[in-house]
Amino acid sequence: MGKIISGKEVAKLLRADIKSYVEKIKSQGKRVPCLATIIVGNDSGSLYYINNQNKICNELGVDTRNISFKENISEAELIETIHKLNEDDTVDGIMLQIPLPRHIDEKKVTSTICADKDIDGLTDKNLGKFYKGEKSFIPCTANSALELIKSTGISIEGKKAVVIGRSNIVGKPTANLLLNENATVTICHSRTQNLKEICKEADILVVAMGKPNFVSSEYVKEGAIVIDVGTSSLNGKICGDVNFQDVIDKAAFITPVPGGVGALTTTLLIRNTCEASEKNVY
Ligand code: NAP
Repeated sequence: MGKIISGKEVAKLLRADIKSYVEKIKSQGKRVPCLATIIVGNDSGSLYYINNQNKICNELGVDTRNISFKENISEAELIETIHKLNEDDTVDGIMLQIPLPRHIDEKKVTSTICADKDIDGLTDKNLGKFYKGEKSFIPCTANSALELIKSTGISIEGKKAVVIGRSNIVGKPTANLLLNENATVTICHSRTQNLKEICKEADILVVAMGKPNFVSSEYVKEGAIVIDVGTSSLNGKICGDVNFQDVIDKAAFITPVPGGVGALTTTLLIRNTCEASEKNVY
């Protein structure tokens, strides 16, 4: 039976480091890091993330600033708010909650966040640096998948890694991170032929499709590391893309949903906020 990789446990260790960092900053009489979040409307997923972010920031001594707007806010007003946060020396990280209402251009607004406060690594500047292999903020979900793979203690170098999904926020950055770790990486998507056969070759299989329980044991190589990024709602419960019960006996390591990738992303976001407050290097 495979070992369960607990995102909660990995997050706990990182949080202890962040907490002592913030305590050190405080004891030196310096300003503690501050994470600003912006939400438009009342999407239940976004509200859940913000509550969770606030709870963890509070626990770690990191300041928060929550800005919420009604659905009918104009794009110009939203951009103006981001400009103000960009110029505000007491704000280190800016997190814009997605989804945004239809009348707002998500890409345009996101690109307004200045790169040194773009703690989720979504601006063109950070993404450009990331894909060129330069130091940058890295999209937190992808980074979470990588940290969980690393937490197994298994070396990534030279391993065959397969990522199912090629989105800009999950699939592509995860594949790039694995490539940077010297894995041999294959990216699969909805037009991929022989998906099962390709996945069965993988020492490391990362699944980011948004298709509940899609990946069964038939897709998994004996002894593989399986990372499930998927979060779908099924019969009122959060469900991953991997059929956990079916796969756990075949995989050497597997992440649960919930309690896996998603349990670490917020902590990584807060760690990035601390880095952003340290120096404006990005
Ligand atoms: P997305 O933009 O919808 O991308 C899904 C990807 O899966 C696409 O590249 C798509 O291929 C591919 N795909 C869909 N059906 C497929 C099939 N039958 N065979 C092979 N590939 C297939 O989704 P996303 O934003 O990347 O998110 C993926 C999942 O991760 C979702 O469940 C999302 O909720 C979850 N997520 C979790 C976290 C977290 O913190 N845990 C954060 C973000 C997202 P095409 O490109 O060809 O369409």
